[in-house]
Amino acid sequence: MEAIHLWWIGEKDPGPRTLEHLRLHLGRALGAPVRIWEDEARPPDAYDERRKQWATSRILAWMGRVGPPGKVLAVTDQDLFIPILTFVFGEAQLDGRSAVVSTARLGEPGLPDPRVAMERLAKEGVHELGHCFGLVHCDSPACVMGRSPSARDVDRKRGEFCSKCRDRLKRAGGEAR
Ligand SMILES: [Zn+2]
Ligand SMILES: [Zn+2]
Repeated sequence: MEAIHLWWIGEKDPGPRTLEHLRLHLGRALGAPVRIWEDEARPPDAYDERRKQWATSRILAWMGRVGPPGKVLAVTDQDLFIPILTFVFGEAQLDGRSAVVSTARLGEPGLPDPRVAMERLAKEGVHELGHCFGLVHCDSPACVMGRSPSARDVDRKRGEFCSKCRDRLKRAGGEAR
């Protein structure tokens, strides 16, 4: 299977542990090699002055133009939105190449254990890349493709695909275990 790239496009340095944890988790869940893509470029036209947030549609379009080949998950510390929602944890092109997730809403102030935020990021990363492989939202309890409007909902699901989603992923060219 073609390598998936992981690309930090945030403002502050995330530190090596966050990205490495995410890289390992994605590789396990998707059964694909995952590489870090080092590029200082940042989306030039995605910041919305009025909302003080970043537009995911613009980020995804920009990634398609300047990012590495194959499927790419961009990770940022900036707050993301789509027009109809207050915020999103991430977004992806369904059956496409690009996905983005944000850490901005995954670690609320006073969160007792920073590992909780890392687990949430791993789950949301797998979820968005699942969309890139053509998976839609899933109602199976605890499946990583379940909807998660809040961080609590993210905590309730597991970091892996249910058997139904795993079968779909296999047919789409993934090799999830
Ligand atoms: Zn989703
Ligand atoms: Zn599922």
